[in-house]
Amino acid sequence: DDAFDEECDYLFKAVLIGDSGVGKSNLLSRFAKDEFRLDSKPTIGVEFAYRNIKVRDKLIKAQIWDTAGQERFRAITSSYYRGALGAVLVYDITRRSSYESVGKWLVELREFGGEDMVVILVGNKCDLSESREVDKEEGKAFAEEEGLCFMETSALKNLNVEQVFLQMITKILEITS
Ligand code: GDP
Ligand code: MG
Repeated sequence: DDAFDEECDYLFKAVLIGDSGVGKSNLLSRFAKDEFRLDSKPTIGVEFAYRNIKVRDKLIKAQIWDTAGQERFRAITSSYYRGALGAVLVYDITRRSSYESVGKWLVELREFGGEDMVVILVGNKCDLSESREVDKEEGKAFAEEEGLCFMETSALKNLNVEQVFLQMITKILEITS
C-alpha cells in the first residue's frame, strides 16, 4: 500500500527466466498472491508483480518481472534484464530439455544482467516425482559449479516458493548494503 511505499527501504527488481511451461508464472502468482492456475494463461507483453516483505528489519519492495511467452521464441529483450539485481532461473524436473536449456539462459543472463546479479536455479514441479527426469543431486551439483543457489519447488503444492524469493532477496540485501 501507499504508506508502505513511503517507508520502504529498498526497491529490488528481479526477473524470472527459463523455458516456456516450466512454471514461472505460477511461481510468481504463488509468491505474490498465493494463487495457482492449472491452465497456462497466455498474455501479451511483460508483466510484473510486487510484494512487500520485511527482511532483517528492512522493508523491501520486491518487483518481480515475468515474461509473457516471449521465451518461446527466445525473444526476451535486454530491457527485461535492465536493472535486475536477481534472477530466478527455472526448469521443470519432469522435462529434461528444460534443464538442458539452463546453460543458454545463463549465457543470456551474463550478457544482459548486471555482474553481481543473484541467481537462484530452481527445479520446479517437484510434486511430480513419478515423472522426474532430472535428479535433485544433478541440479544441485550444476548450481554449485556455476556459483548459483539451488532449490527444488512446487508451485502447485506451495513447496519452497517463499524460500526461493526470500533467499534471493536476502542475498541481494547482503550485496547492496
Ligand atoms: P511458464 O510458461 O513458465 O510461465 O509456466 P506456467 O506457470 O504457465 O505453468 C505451465 C504449466 O505447468 C501449467 O499448466 C501449470 O499449471 C503447470 N505447473 C506450474 N507449476 C507447477 C508445479 O509446481 N507442479 C505441477 N504439477 N504443475 C505445475
Ligand atoms: Mg508464463
